[in-house]
This record gives sequence, C-alpha cells and structure tokens, in this order.
Amino acid sequence: MWTSRSPAPETLAGAPVRMTRVVCLCALGAAAALGAMFSFVASTPGSAAGTPRSFGAVRVFPSAPVQGDTLVVLVSVPDHAGATLTFDGSAVATYATPGGDLRALIGTDPDVAAGSHTIAAAIRDAGGTMRRMTQTVHLAAGRFGVRHLTLGPTTFGLITPQNLAIESRALVPVLRRRTSTAWWDGVFAVPSDGPIDSPYGEQGVYNGRREWWHMGVDFAALEGAPVVAANAGVVALARPLPLGGNTIVIDHGQGVLSEYLHLSAFVVHEGARVERGAVIGRIGATGLVTGPSVHWGLYVNGLPVNPLFWTVPHAGLTAP
Ligand SMILES: [Zn+2]
Repeated sequence: MWTSRSPAPETLAGAPVRMTRVVCLCALGAAAALGAMFSFVASTPGSAAGTPRSFGAVRVFPSAPVQGDTLVVLVSVPDHAGATLTFDGSAVATYATPGGDLRALIGTDPDVAAGSHTIAAAIRDAGGTMRRMTQTVHLAAGRFGVRHLTLGPTTFGLITPQNLAIESRALVPVLRRRTSTAWWDGVFAVPSDGPIDSPYGEQGVYNGRREWWHMGVDFAALEGAPVVAANAGVVALARPLPLGGNTIVIDHGQGVLSEYLHLSAFVVHEGARVERGAVIGRIGATGLVTGPSVHWGLYVNGLPVNPLFWTVPHAGLTAP
C-alpha cells in the first residue's frame, strides 16, 4: 500500500500498481529466530504489590527485523484467554495457532519508518483480570536500490484512470480478505525457477521522475514456463486485469495473500484449493510489462512485504 509519503499519483486506493523490470515495470508499482521473550505481570489491583506473577508469555520474531520483514507475535494463553494487540496504536488481528497460542502477523515495508515501534498487548484471563504489556521493536532500514528506466508512451499509456479503477475494484476487496484458518505450511516456494530480475523494494525512476517502489519480486523466464503456488491456499482471484495482466491471488489465510502477475495462461480458477508447488499459471507478458516474467507479491494484513522473507524458516511462521 502507498502511504502519504509515497508521491505516486497513479496509485490505487488501497492496492498497488506494479510492473516488472526487464520487462515488468513492476517497480511501479533472517533474522535470528530467538526473538524477544517477555512475561506478563499482573497490572490489576488484585495483584499484590511486589509479588508479580507470571502470566503466559509474548514472543516477537525476528529479533532484528528489517523493513520488508514480517513481525510475528506469539501470545501464550493456555486457558484460552482473550488478547488484543496493537502496533503503534493500531489494532492487529490475532488468530489461533495449532499449538494453542494466539498469533499476530505485522507486515512492514519501506514506508514503515525505520526505528522504534511499539507493540502493546492486553490479555484478559479466565477470571477477568487484565494484563498489559508493551514491547519496543527496532526496525532497521532496508537496503533498497534504485533503478532508472525510460518508458515509451505506449507502455505508460496503460496507466489511465479507467484502468486504475478497474484494477482497484478487482484487487482491493480480495486483498482485504481475512480468513481465520492458516492454510500455509512451512516455508514458501518461489513461484518460478527463473532468475530474479527485479528485487523487492527498489525505487523506480521513470523518465527521470521517481515513482513507486517495487512491491514484489520479479522472476524472468520463458513464455509458457510454469508458475507455481508459493504455498497452500484458496484461489481468491484469477482474471485478466489492465495493469497486472492475467493475475492470480491466493489467500493463504490469516491475512496472508500472494499475487502472481503478467501470466500468459491460467491453470486454476477462482475458488480452487491449491497446494504448495501446484502449477497455477504460465509465464507471460500481459499487462504493464515489457517481457515474459512473473511478479510475485505477498501481502500481510494489507502491507506488501518482502516475499523472500517467507522462503526461509522463521519461528512461529514458517518453521515448526
Ligand atoms: Zn514486479
């Protein structure tokens, strides 16, 4: 998503425009697993002063996050007490994990300022006692490059208010899906065995003007090569769009959705269940792109995070 700091007049309302590199102009468009663990201390009058008692634990991963990473907050609530979490004052959804903990996923991107951020949690136990805590997380600045491109009028001509409106109407509701079940299992697969052509977070300078940063990763490959699902989920969207071209979005559950742009063909249809590694489409050059490639984006509760973070094991997320 674009924030007010992103001077991108062509942005969508709540959905990004991406194009690829070589080829897609998408750019428009591991940290330690130990994490920080801390315990709750009773904060109600019922807690005798000087005799704080432990109440579950909250763990935050990774311990040294970088812009683009996904923060994982695990809350131990053995008695199934309720919990609410906020990130810099904004509510963050929590979902149950198979292990019985509550988990919140907080996406970060280049527009989430580097520096200190606050995670606050409140847990109400079975007896109605409220416990509160806050944790400061330091987000390090990502090292994102800049690329300069000169675009022809035909390519740039795809960016019209009408096309942006069509794209927005299709994508915004889909990216807002919040399914309580987590369907993904283990690390995510990259969608193509082609080389990475354009990395996440690159600033794009088009015809001398700085525009969008790249909200995904592009893989260049031969036209018709397979594109696979990064992980298990439900196909939430599979249709042609003006800028994304033939576009697939997979809902992996709990606010995690992946997208695949510029395909030449669909192999799945909307509503289908897919497993990790299943062929969902074919490499193409449809939409706002200049050559065969696939743009892979990953959204965590609405923020376009670095998908590659999910391709390696992280505690509480993609590792047992
Ligand atoms: Zn791209």
